[in-house]
Amino acid sequence: MKIKSFVEDHFKVNTIEIEIELVPGLPGIKILGQPEQLIRDSQFRIVSALHHLGFELPESHQVIVNLKPMRGIKKSQGLDLPIALGLLHLSHQLPIPESFLSKELWIYGSLSLNGEVSSYGLDDKVFYKRRNGVFLTGPGNPNLFADQYVLKTLVDVTEPCRQEKSSVKNENWRRPEPTPFFWNTEQAQLLSLIGLGEHSCFLGGLPGSGKTSLARSLWSLLYDFKEEKRIEVQQLNRYYGRARGWRPFVEPHHSASVRAMIGGGSLVQPGAISQAHGGILFLDEFLEFHQLVIESLREPMETGRIQLYRGENYKSFPAEFILIATSNLCPCGYWMPARKSSQQRSCRCSSRKLRSYQERLSGPMMERFSLFYLLSDELDEGQITSQEILNKIIRARNFAERTRGQYEVNERVESSVLEKQLKGEFSDLKKECGTNYRRWVRWLKVSRSIADLEENPAIERHHFIEAYNWSFHSQDLLKARIH
Ligand SMILES: [Zn+2]
Repeated sequence: MKIKSFVEDHFKVNTIEIEIELVPGLPGIKILGQPEQLIRDSQFRIVSALHHLGFELPESHQVIVNLKPMRGIKKSQGLDLPIALGLLHLSHQLPIPESFLSKELWIYGSLSLNGEVSSYGLDDKVFYKRRNGVFLTGPGNPNLFADQYVLKTLVDVTEPCRQEKSSVKNENWRRPEPTPFFWNTEQAQLLSLIGLGEHSCFLGGLPGSGKTSLARSLWSLLYDFKEEKRIEVQQLNRYYGRARGWRPFVEPHHSASVRAMIGGGSLVQPGAISQAHGGILFLDEFLEFHQLVIESLREPMETGRIQLYRGENYKSFPAEFILIATSNLCPCGYWMPARKSSQQRSCRCSSRKLRSYQERLSGPMMERFSLFYLLSDELDEGQITSQEILNKIIRARNFAERTRGQYEVNERVESSVLEKQLKGEFSDLKKECGTNYRRWVRWLKVSRSIADLEENPAIERHHFIEAYNWSFHSQDLLKARIH
């Protein structure tokens, strides 16, 4: 006979088919199809439960259980019930009602040693929509199927209790309150650009220049997800053992190891970048992170995933995050190229230390940031509220959706698509990027965000001029200083 059920696959649940047959041989249960220890142990729980309820393993027959698809190691807490009900049915000890067998039959539940059924490992967010078929499971599961029945013990299968529909709730998913700051025009435009385009951003500046509050304020300015993406992020985070009420904001310390950042270990666990999937990865004091940790971000920043190997074990985790990095520009924190103000404290670092910092600031990793900006050292009080910035971002996002049918953020749109939106002559600007194609792509994407904030369907030359200031000006200044 064939029964459908579920196995765990990291942060999601996969469906499998369980084939059960009785073949002549010594009594016992043999499970094929790469079961993990938890599933292999189920034979002992089943034998004990059968014994407690007055049933027994089929005489002079072996129970062969085959989990399909065969490839891939399977892990599940819920295969006791389908196997036990299958073997009781086949050995005519406790037939499954015909009304269930005539439909697609799904069974999931674990057994205690005395035959009580319970369910762990499933939740309603596993499913984007309700499934068809009949589902037999233990108490406490959300309503996943239109036709769902609850068994407290194995014997309930002859007369199970129908589970009434419960509505699928949207767990308190809501945007945090925008921060109560007043921003100046420079800061406001920067927040709008990151919030709208979801561009990776390096923010440099003096202590107190507001770079950290700016980075933290971004969290509440992110656009809300579409349903499907939200479910993906919630599932992923449930796997990490935490509930998410909004898009993630993950802030690893600068002493974090490569493994803590990207994942790994003997069981190949995901790291901070995957916890930040769909949200912000905030790296404060970026230049204090180990060089190898910074380097390890390159692959996921390009591909939105991380692939981890451990011997023959290979795992891939999603890692699409907005990288926001902040840093001082020298160890003491008071160095700034082209400082406007002379009244404030000046840098006391040795020229050797200063040079080492500057070299890191203009290194290849820094070129991966779409926005590279040094906040001006003269703090002027602004008048723009976070809520006003959020409204502007939402307007611009709606504009992109309405006029271009674009649902992706600008950072993730193919450059060939954006190039078609150029209006005017750009060959000289493209030439300026030379062989550095990545620079051209970043320039293009940031320009698109600037145009969107203006609600301009075309990307024009003046958008590029502004984007240069946000993306390259500071870094070119630093490079010129070094060479
Ligand atoms: Zn200094």
